Amino acid sequence: MASDIDIARAAKLKPIQDIAARIGVPDDALIPYGRTKAKISGEFLKSLEHRPDGKLILVTAINPTPAGEGKTTTTVGLGDGLNRIGRKAVICLREPSLGPCFGMKGGAAGGGKAQVVPMEDINLHFTGDFHAITSAHNLLSALIENHIYWGNELEIDQRRVVWRRVMDMNDRALRQIVCSLGGVSNGFPREGGFDITVASEIMAILCLATDLTDLQQRLGDIIVAYRRDRTAVTARDLQADGAMTVLLKEAIQPNLVQTLENNPAFIHGGPFANIAHGCNSVMATRSALKLADYVVTEAGFGADLGAEKFFDIKCRKAGLHPDAAVIVATVRALKMNGGVAKEDLGAENVQAVKNGCVNLGRHIENIKQFGVPAIVAINHFTADTGAEVEAVKEFCAGLGVEAVLASHWAEGSEGTVELAEKVAVLAESGMAQFAPLYEDGLSLLGKIEAIAKRIYRADDVLADNSVRDQLRRWEADGFGHLPVCMAKTQYSFSTDPSRLGAPNGHSVPVREVRLSAGAGFVVAICGEIMTMPGLPRVPSANHIKLNDQGMIEGLF
Ligand code: ADP
Ligand code: MG
Repeated sequence: MASDIDIARAAKLKPIQDIAARIGVPDDALIPYGRTKAKISGEFLKSLEHRPDGKLILVTAINPTPAGEGKTTTTVGLGDGLNRIGRKAVICLREPSLGPCFGMKGGAAGGGKAQVVPMEDINLHFTGDFHAITSAHNLLSALIENHIYWGNELEIDQRRVVWRRVMDMNDRALRQIVCSLGGVSNGFPREGGFDITVASEIMAILCLATDLTDLQQRLGDIIVAYRRDRTAVTARDLQADGAMTVLLKEAIQPNLVQTLENNPAFIHGGPFANIAHGCNSVMATRSALKLADYVVTEAGFGADLGAEKFFDIKCRKAGLHPDAAVIVATVRALKMNGGVAKEDLGAENVQAVKNGCVNLGRHIENIKQFGVPAIVAINHFTADTGAEVEAVKEFCAGLGVEAVLASHWAEGSEGTVELAEKVAVLAESGMAQFAPLYEDGLSLLGKIEAIAKRIYRADDVLADNSVRDQLRRWEADGFGHLPVCMAKTQYSFSTDPSRLGAPNGHSVPVREVRLSAGAGFVVAICGEIMTMPGLPRVPSANHIKLNDQGMIEGLF
């Protein structure tokens, strides 16, 4: 089969106005960025509020393995499939980060015949949202430094500035830095550092904000530092929230593009899935629900992290009611969960598939706990055998859940007709009785325990007194009602990435907790979490260039 980039380049893109018209977005509500990308005006979206919502379908997956699962690819394939069977469907995805494109080859716009286009733009500068977020973030950093320089009226403890800087580049040299060197006129030297833009709290805020007013409120709530008495200093204290909102006023409007089959796709916002909630913006999802009968959206990582955060953070906060969940599994990844090494995945191994299904089974049970009916999509790879696929179907049938083979990667929407029909029936069935896993009123530690025990199936949560004290202090300060955002490895239900399948008898150690007061969650860090990636020994940047026709080579 042709490469992703060749398929994307061969696509016949329609003018973005035509795509918008299909979902009833008029020309004057469209803010075009070239011919095939546009933002949709916030004013127009506000005017839709009285409309009923379409059905919301979450695409999630088993625990990721190096064998690949294909959530984005399946989200696109299912959206195209629903359109193919005559349903009005819109897909909602995250915006990819630019930095990682220059490290490892590979984009984040789907694959094969299930992609969103124009994929080079989507993976690089797109409509400038990440630039705006980076600027708003670093404006706040500059204002903190400036406030201290001019006398520090707010009495910021310079050892306790928690707001760092960001850029959309993988640059390990910037993880820890010393700033303000060079003498009196440059301020007071202190330690600082950079994260990648997608790890910025402003990214999470942009994705959870419901409108510009809510955005500014949340920006003002950001805690930037603490005083010697441990009271918090916020962005509002620094009078930064107004200017930051100005920088973000375009970025908050959802971006519209199209799939290879010319169906509408919103791609908006891209928060990290570990220290943040890992799904596209509330603005995009809500708008899509007003404009389409079916909205298909993806959550990052496996269902233990991605779906849990989608339900417990995004849906809880935005008042969304998902109607169905699609759990993506691949025969290859199930084999790895069943103990097969990556090199041996080519050979048929029905027993390993059966063994690996314990991972899938646990995710199915977990989704049921949220009251959302689920279906399994087996994302078909060419090497999968009929007997292996049958083993997955049989296993799922035993749990009362249907598993459908989907071949969108090779065939486009033709390969997801059955999946689309079944998902539509499930979403329309009225079976969904969505409720988050825990109540707002539960203690912060209680919430961490609820997730660890009921989703990860751990025996207990291990946390030092310093962590417990910190959580109690935040409860006393009025943050106890917030949901928690778990930052742990995506590869296992446990905090040990090597424990595949469905591990038992493990503990969840909480090393550190952080408060994202603007985004509105408490982050529980359970393991090594990287917020500024580095580049590999041979970065893909070494081979990226423009060819004689002015086309990008080596990026995908
Ligand atoms: P996720 O969203 O789960 O991270 P993606 O949908 O981005 O996964 O897919 C990851 C990679 O796997 C992409 O390069 C995609 O082209 C490839 N891929 C997905 N499905 C298939 C398939 N059925 N056959 C071959 N490659 C696939
Ligand atoms: Mg993805």
